[in-house]
Amino acid sequence: MMLAPASYACHPQQTRGRRHAEAAPIGRNQFQRDRDRIIHCNAFRLLEYKTQVFINHEGDLFRTRLTHSIEVAQIARTLARNLGLHEDLTEAISLAHDLGHTPFGHAGQDELNACMRELAPKAGGFEHNLQSLRVVDELEERYAAFNGLNLCFETREGILKHCSVKHARLLGDVGERFLNKTQPSLEAQIANLADEIAYNNHDIDDGLRSGLITIEQLQMLEIFATHHANVKRRYPSLEKRRLVAEIIRSMINTLVLDLTETTLANIGVHKPDSADAVRAAPPLASFSASMRRQADALKSFLLENLYRHYRVMRMTTKARIIVRELFTAFLEDPRLLGDDYRRDDEVAQARAIADYIAGMTDRYAIREHRQLFRME
Ligand code: MG
Repeated sequence: MMLAPASYACHPQQTRGRRHAEAAPIGRNQFQRDRDRIIHCNAFRLLEYKTQVFINHEGDLFRTRLTHSIEVAQIARTLARNLGLHEDLTEAISLAHDLGHTPFGHAGQDELNACMRELAPKAGGFEHNLQSLRVVDELEERYAAFNGLNLCFETREGILKHCSVKHARLLGDVGERFLNKTQPSLEAQIANLADEIAYNNHDIDDGLRSGLITIEQLQMLEIFATHHANVKRRYPSLEKRRLVAEIIRSMINTLVLDLTETTLANIGVHKPDSADAVRAAPPLASFSASMRRQADALKSFLLENLYRHYRVMRMTTKARIIVRELFTAFLEDPRLLGDDYRRDDEVAQARAIADYIAGMTDRYAIREHRQLFRME
């Protein structure tokens, strides 16, 4: 199944370049350099202590944003190799895709966005995707000659999965596709779907481990029931932990193979002969209709039964309070902030507070909140 790097792949020698001109790397290609810069940056290490679904201190076996990102990269690289895409680029996009995530998962992000919209309406809200781009374009401070990591266009294009039209207008080259409704590279499309495969499967695993969902419930889902029956047929008396692991590995494999085959068929129909032809075509990376339906059913199951489980909701409610109280306190009295986050202008001040909170790990946010609000 493995193909040579295809004409429709992104090629590092043909990159659209970096925002600040740099000499080409020696001993590695442009996309490898991007991947390496991402792994060495601060925001990447902070992912270790940021929530995926379960707060970091709830248990050592649960996924964090870091292990999630590594799983996404693993799946995306398999897909890239099977499809003749540029593996290093897909890996770089996958490892960077959540760099802008707030503490406490989606609850933290939604609350930070709500705070920005209500309390600093001129500052333009908070979008985690846009924040991931902001981390690599602006916020990292590691290089003498520029802010951020100065990544290639293709990596930045992949990081910015979605974004509002209003923001797209301000972003220059990476924003264009949201205005002219074109697609990103296949490497980016694949990283996006690898994200979905990773979280659907690891959230089942973490959900079962936590006891918030059960195998019996999951058997209502076609995809789970099929693989459950297959594993049971081969190993009738397998104990639960191995049973779950076997089901999940075969679900991931099936999703990856379906995505590979369907995408190859789409490529066969549209015959893009360059990465730009991919961008001009309809989305080429996709599951088959039946697999899409099953994956959607899985997603809505997790939403209803795991992400909205009352025990998860209790955690997210606390997370929202922490984010809101921190934001409000800093906005009302910026003197509570260190010099790095003080700004003269009102809009810039709100943005700096959002950057500060978004950069916090779960435990840092909890500590900061305790320090500000608890009289000890
Ligand atoms: Mg993700």
